[in-house]
Amino acid sequence: MEIPSPPKLRIGNGFDIHPVSNDPSRPLILGGVEVSSGFGLLGHSDADVVCHAVSDAVLGAVGLGGIGDHFPDDDPSLEGANSLMLLSRCVQMAAEKGWYLINADVTVIAQQPHLSGFLVEISSSVSLTVSAPVSVKAKSPERIGSLGDNLGMVALASALLWQP
Ligand SMILES: [Zn+2]
Repeated sequence: MEIPSPPKLRIGNGFDIHPVSNDPSRPLILGGVEVSSGFGLLGHSDADVVCHAVSDAVLGAVGLGGIGDHFPDDDPSLEGANSLMLLSRCVQMAAEKGWYLINADVTVIAQQPHLSGFLVEISSSVSLTVSAPVSVKAKSPERIGSLGDNLGMVALASALLWQP
């Protein structure tokens, strides 16, 4: 009996966390969208946890490590970098290995701000950048621990890729 070969699919997961910045002028950027919040996240780039988590999921799916392996946080040319651009480069690196994104799913964990009014725009922004559907959900940490004290923000992502 001939066993059919499985479809060429790979799944990856991503995690990212950034602390809340003390600099009141720093914008909060999620999925390339500036979210009005009164605070931003601290990071070498624009500290976009959504883009970084999706980037790690895409790279991880195809065994290319993580975003820090390709875009180190001590590279002066990446200071304030637009993470949508970094994500786009990660998707391109996967494509160069013959892997294409089917979809990604993201969960943002943030005590503040309430993100429900921004999720459609964030999802559209990331989807457009990666040319695949990316859903973005928000969860409250329910005032538990450091995230509950609004000391930082986390994003988790899954990505599914296929090879023709
Ligand atoms: Zn990050």
